[in-house]
Amino acid sequence: MRISDILRVKGERVVTVPPEADVTELLALLAEHKIGAVIVSRDGARVEGIVSERDIVRALATRGAAVLSEPVAAIQTTEVRSVARTAALDEVERLMTERRFRHVPVIEDGALRGVVSIGDVVKFRIDELQTERASLEEYITGERA
Ligand code: AMP
Repeated sequence: MRISDILRVKGERVVTVPPEADVTELLALLAEHKIGAVIVSRDGARVEGIVSERDIVRALATRGAAVLSEPVAAIQTTEVRSVARTAALDEVERLMTERRFRHVPVIEDGALRGVVSIGDVVKFRIDELQTERASLEEYITGERA
């Protein structure tokens, strides 16, 4: 299973925010799209950072409500780990487990091509297990489920 298999199903659409947008605008985007992280980019192609709900929580806990009017650039992570479309699903799982993040952008030829979340990974693994189980049952019983 490759990252491109996930993107084929979920699509390549990515929600981005410019670094100068404020945290209140970021909250609106997270709520509107029902997502947990947004890629920071001015042109929608070059990844400048990533900002997740955890960054907002951390900033609120240390600096209080004033954070809401700060720019996204003040709370983003700029050293973004990404994967290629051709990467195996195992690679993104390892990255998420070792680094403890739940979102990984997919980059090809320097341009943003999608985002894989931990929810996407879990969904694909469950689908894979169900298909495998159905084949095994068919093999054992001779009956198609
Ligand atoms: P998450 O678990 O994705 O909500 O993110 C947890 C922390 O890791 C936050 O500080 C994010 O900004 C950061 N983060 C999330 N995804 C990535 C990524 N692909 N590369 C680098 N940092 C990330």
